[in-house]
Amino acid sequence: MAQFYKKCDKYLRFGEPTLAKKTGIYPYFHKITGEQNPIVQMDENQVIMLGSNNYLGMSTNLEVKKAAQKAIEDYGVGSTGSRLLNGTMEIHVELEERLAKFFGTEDCVVFSTGMQANLGSISAVLSEKDEWVISDQQNHASIIDGIKLGKMERSNKKIYAHNDMEDLERCLKEVPKGKGLIVTDGVFSMEGDIVKLDELVDLAEDYDAGIYLDDAHSVGVIGPHGRGTAAHFDLVDKVGITMGTFSKSFATIGGYIAANEAICNWIRHKARSFIFSASPPPANCATVLAVLDIIEKDESLRLNVLDVAHKMRQALSSIGYNVGDSSTAIIPLIVGEDRKTLKFFKGLFNCKPMGIFSNPVVYPATPKGRALMRTSYIATMTEAIVDDAIQIFEDVGKKMKVI
Ligand code: PMP
Repeated sequence: MAQFYKKCDKYLRFGEPTLAKKTGIYPYFHKITGEQNPIVQMDENQVIMLGSNNYLGMSTNLEVKKAAQKAIEDYGVGSTGSRLLNGTMEIHVELEERLAKFFGTEDCVVFSTGMQANLGSISAVLSEKDEWVISDQQNHASIIDGIKLGKMERSNKKIYAHNDMEDLERCLKEVPKGKGLIVTDGVFSMEGDIVKLDELVDLAEDYDAGIYLDDAHSVGVIGPHGRGTAAHFDLVDKVGITMGTFSKSFATIGGYIAANEAICNWIRHKARSFIFSASPPPANCATVLAVLDIIEKDESLRLNVLDVAHKMRQALSSIGYNVGDSSTAIIPLIVGEDRKTLKFFKGLFNCKPMGIFSNPVVYPATPKGRALMRTSYIATMTEAIVDDAIQIFEDVGKKMKVI
């Protein structure tokens, strides 16, 4: 038998997922029935959904659903090709223009997923052997993989301690001036803390480095009208490249790069995940346009999700949880050990009559000994749901000795 088959066979019989299933702590692939609302039916359990990135609750918004349906009527279900070839429809161009206007940049490039936006754009930008990248230790996997695909020397990669501007400066000192690209999440995906962008911009200026900002968890949530991290700090003109995704606040799937005309032109012609993959379906574009219509007019959803998270953060911390440095719609409950975190997940999930679905995050997605329960919140959560969630966290946390 070929090695590949043997390896998979062995993993199926003795791998960690199989062992976790046998001991009843496997937390993945629970099936949702119906729409993704703040309360969902998952397998046999009714649960409060604290594990989605549907920050503004747009996945079930009526206006948004109607816009997506109309796009299917107008354009069909898919583009069947790359943007470069037959896959550019007028709705893609309309969306790019609209996003550029929303973010205050010259141009914008739309990808089919956020992962593709990072893979394609980071590798396209790091195209020369003598370029350098300086990346936050807790950056998302799609950034890490985008960097791996870059053409710079392998040794030209520096990782700085999470959101630690002293350590970033230490790295920048080792990089030739004008050759470095600093890459960071805007809101960090696991712990919900915000990059110290004001300090980072000063350092980038001092060392003449470029900035690549991943705003996947920022867009829709921070900055006026949800324009993201740079707008939150009033530093839009100082960030060279901002990436974001449609899979969270925009509640569909797709990604974008917002930058100046020259950078977007470069990416349109050099990003392999853009060129060699079909463009997003028209309904996805219409979804994003409809969400933009809502958030440009009205700040209430964004303020609601921040209020819900604020109330949860205060309550969770007062009942004894370590909630890290979060200040956004993501709150980590830092548990420590991997196994304890997986058991905690089951305790929350199986709580009756109502449980909680949240995301256990274990090594290697977090540093060893810092396993956590990633909770995230939705603008449409009522006060009653918030109160129920706090009660469940208190009961299960005490019973399982997490607090
Ligand atoms: N960047 C960050 C920070 C993310 O959290 C994610 C998704 N979890 C992505 C990029 C990739 O986005 P998508 O789901 O659109 O592929």
